[in-house]
Amino acid sequence: MKLLEYEAKAILRSADIPVPRASIVRSAQDIVQTPVILKSQVPTGGRGKAGGIKLVENASDLPAVISTMLSLSINGSIPKVLLAEEKLTIEHEYYLSIIIDRQLAEIQLMAHVNGGVEVEENDPKSFLITTLNGKNTDGAGEKLADYYGLPSQCFILQDMIERLYRCFVQNDATLLEINPLVLTFNQKLVAADCKMELDDAARFRHPEWNFEAAPVNSSFVTLDSHGTVATIANGAGLAMATVDAVKAEGMQPANFLDIGGGANAKEIAQAFRQIMDLPNIRAIIINIFAGITRCDEVAKAIITAQKETMSLPPLFIRLAGTNFEEAVKLLAKENIPTLATLEECLVASKEKISE
Ligand code: GDP
Ligand code: MN
Repeated sequence: MKLLEYEAKAILRSADIPVPRASIVRSAQDIVQTPVILKSQVPTGGRGKAGGIKLVENASDLPAVISTMLSLSINGSIPKVLLAEEKLTIEHEYYLSIIIDRQLAEIQLMAHVNGGVEVEENDPKSFLITTLNGKNTDGAGEKLADYYGLPSQCFILQDMIERLYRCFVQNDATLLEINPLVLTFNQKLVAADCKMELDDAARFRHPEWNFEAAPVNSSFVTLDSHGTVATIANGAGLAMATVDAVKAEGMQPANFLDIGGGANAKEIAQAFRQIMDLPNIRAIIINIFAGITRCDEVAKAIITAQKETMSLPPLFIRLAGTNFEEAVKLLAKENIPTLATLEECLVASKEKISE
């Protein structure tokens, strides 16, 4: 489960990691102090580059900027809320994260002296990576301060690493990334952005988990941003075969998406949103083979999601397996046709596209 930035920062705050002063904005009428940084709360990275981070200097500009940001889709997601934060005076942006190396079965600290939106441009070999476990966080602060070139922050960094490590373990995190870790003009280190992923399998021991974090279709892959046919299938094999079949029929598949077994309305609605972010979609093929998944559940999800998504292109749906008859009836009631085979979906999509 991926947390939204403000949820992750609430966890950091309670672990005594410095974060900017902040409030949540839900509408253009909300009052916030200026200057302020407004940040779109969507479960994707790269918001800075996609228009999801805005500095507002004048209070009079706030309502317009807030309403624009609340309706702006960032990589397929529309935010429910914005995070309003005090403007930081940035001297330098560092990268700091705690990750799990599954091969080595280790928790590691990973850092880069050049953080921020271009962190991926850094040479992979130039990152500092060091193992953390309950015993040897000692000395990690010194190593990090040395690597960052911040000897005067050695104790602060040591303290921060210990807190981050504890926070990571206690929250059953699988990723905790601070990018950027900002050094302000006043020489304070502040977590200006945070990405946190928690282990869904640990939910049973966290009754306190009730995050707003939108579900993400983590398997969504854009294949061709100008492709005309979007695909939704369940199971990676069927999803790949569906993409191949679209291509073999002479059409341009836009994406790969395996919605897995949990095809609920939220996930399908999210899939539609991700698809609608691609510019040229003319048809959506939904190919479901239901074993554990139930076709009637998928049908209900499609119906709900379709109502939530504006100007959706035509759907070509093939359902087979558990509770298939019920699904066809449910969809027919809403005037959503189903087809018997993938082949029929392909032919119908092709006709639609050539119109
Ligand atoms: P991301 O693009 O989704 O990773 O969003 P970030 O929260 O990391 O913000 C992207 C960039 O916006 C940062 O690297 C900073 O350069 C800038 N930024 C974010 N918050 C502030 C702030 O409070 N003050 C200033 N001046 N810049 C900020
Ligand atoms: Mn960031």
